Amino acid sequence: MTTVNFNTKLNEKNALFYKEQEREVSVFEYAYQHNLPLLIKGPTGCGKTRFIAHMAEKLNKPLYTVACHDDLTAADLVGRHLIGPDGTYWQDGPLTKAVREGGICYLDEVVEARKDTTVVLHPLADDRRVLPLERTGELIEASPDFMLVVSYNPGYQNLLKGMKPSTRQRFVALRFDYPKTEIEQDIIINEAGVDAHLAYKLVELGQALRKLEQSDLDEVASTRLLIYAAKMMSSGMNALDVCRSCLAEPLSDEPDTVNAIMDVARIYF
Ligand code: ADP
Repeated sequence: MTTVNFNTKLNEKNALFYKEQEREVSVFEYAYQHNLPLLIKGPTGCGKTRFIAHMAEKLNKPLYTVACHDDLTAADLVGRHLIGPDGTYWQDGPLTKAVREGGICYLDEVVEARKDTTVVLHPLADDRRVLPLERTGELIEASPDFMLVVSYNPGYQNLLKGMKPSTRQRFVALRFDYPKTEIEQDIIINEAGVDAHLAYKLVELGQALRKLEQSDLDEVASTRLLIYAAKMMSSGMNALDVCRSCLAEPLSDEPDTVNAIMDVARIYF
């Protein structure tokens, strides 16, 4: 199990930079106010994690982020008995900590986790708001400040693994996508410290590459990759070399597809 700490990017007000895409901030706030859990669907690198970090900061709540994977079990979320010098003791997992302290627990790529995690998520996600700790026999009532947030990428590779409808309909859901042109340009300017012209060219390239999605690529150029490219270009690296190392190679292992991406890159750089 991995608990991730944020790679914090602070703006002049010493707050994490977040550019709103639509009305997601108010949806989150209303859901939080009504103690409702939130589900965010969207492709890789489109700002889901940054959004949750921003909201945790805005609401001044501790944030526990768990990157889910196919070995992640309910015990990784709730906690387990460990052996110490004085015998065994119980250690809360990230979900239990958030439930007790009144924090936000964010389960990234929740569909990857083992099926036994639904047993702990269901009673927390509906109006019971309780967390049963099977191992200790405890039934913890969630603090009123606790919020459960989960995300997944509904791209075709997850079709078989999609979230069960009975789980999905316990959540308020938001769909994220790559930002609109001006917003993505602004994000790149802020995150990479580049000028508007370079940011715009990268957004245009990103959009052109996203159109290749259906035919050649499992995943398309994310905002994250465009930011990497902007950073490398702004420090003087040759633009086409950057396109190869930050876009073409990370997006495909197929030499023909890499070449096709480079053909598109040459239109812009
Ligand atoms: P996801 O969780 O969807 O995979 P992230 O939240 O990690 O993606 O986003 C990748 C990067 O893109 C972030 O680290 C941040 O630099 C940038 N980013 C994306 N969307 C936004 C946004 N709306 N505001 C600010 N930064 C953003």
